[in-house]
Amino acid sequence: MASNIKCIGVLTSGGDAPGMNAAIRSVTRAAIFNGIRVKGIFKGYKGLISGEISEFKTNSVSNIIQQGGTILKTARCAEFLTPEGRKIAFETMQREEIDALVVIGGDGSLTGANIFANEFDVPIVGLPGTIDNDLYGTDVTIGYDTALNTIMQSVDKIRDTATSHERLFFIEVMGRNCGYLALNSAIASGAEAAIIPEISIEKDQLSELIEQGFRKSKNSSLVLVTESEITGGALKLAERVKTEYPQYDVRVSILGHLQRGGSPSAQDRILASRMGIAAIRALLEDQRNVMIGIHENEIVYIPFKRAIKKEREISDELLEVLRISSI
Ligand code: ADP
Repeated sequence: MASNIKCIGVLTSGGDAPGMNAAIRSVTRAAIFNGIRVKGIFKGYKGLISGEISEFKTNSVSNIIQQGGTILKTARCAEFLTPEGRKIAFETMQREEIDALVVIGGDGSLTGANIFANEFDVPIVGLPGTIDNDLYGTDVTIGYDTALNTIMQSVDKIRDTATSHERLFFIEVMGRNCGYLALNSAIASGAEAAIIPEISIEKDQLSELIEQGFRKSKNSSLVLVTESEITGGALKLAERVKTEYPQYDVRVSILGHLQRGGSPSAQDRILASRMGIAAIRALLEDQRNVMIGIHENEIVYIPFKRAIKKEREISDELLEVLRISSI
């Protein structure tokens, strides 16, 4: 292991996700274990530009594995989209003597990391931190399992009221252009259907559902919807039902930011701990511009270019599970 990395910077960027703290903890401890200094960069790329940075020791990350959110804070940073902004970020790295970065974030954050790494020849390793599970090359992302459980618990509660009133409920969940959260939470909560972006491109899922008479033998119907321009979102679908199928008593519940919060699940804490250690191992092995992923329970390295390519497909098997189990 011939690495000349003496100091790394770690940051969280974009949307927060439960388990980011567990990842920060693991990255910090793994670096220190290997004799590498660690600097915590606050507020994502914003802090890299403004220099909001402090040295992390092992106890800087004590007592955080169970906390949601991110102790490093996160931000969206328009300045980092510009070459001028990224130049300032690079100058901060030089001034702070940071040799490499570990970036914990979603699709956008890793896109930025890829551009920055190529522009300034900086070693960067990414960790997939997003509830959306929309990165290619990893079976799951940090935060996804916790969000799934949060959604499932919320849907269980909505079911009680939906059943009492014999209503049709559209429950909108996050996911951007990725339907995994909606699909798997529909399976886990015994919902009728999921309206997801991957399928919305091909067909009108709403009319198909109604035409199948999906509510025939049931006294309530729960449909999970991905918040996305492609699906139209729950409110638009409910408007359509009101005009096209007025026989239904339709309601909407948008789960919103509560999906991001809460203490991370055991699975997310373990995933984040494994990925954080793997990030430092990757840097020591002179890997750069890779995202740490997990595939068939093994750690894998995915080049940024592939991870962010948006070529992730929805599983036909999961679609079938929902279709069959909701008859
Ligand atoms: P997420 O990482 O959760 O997908 P965003 O898409 O908001 O969140 O991205 C987070 C940040 O990453 C942005 O605010 C910006 O600073 C940086 N970023 C995103 N896309 C790019 C890009 N094309 N070039 C440079 N930086 C980017």
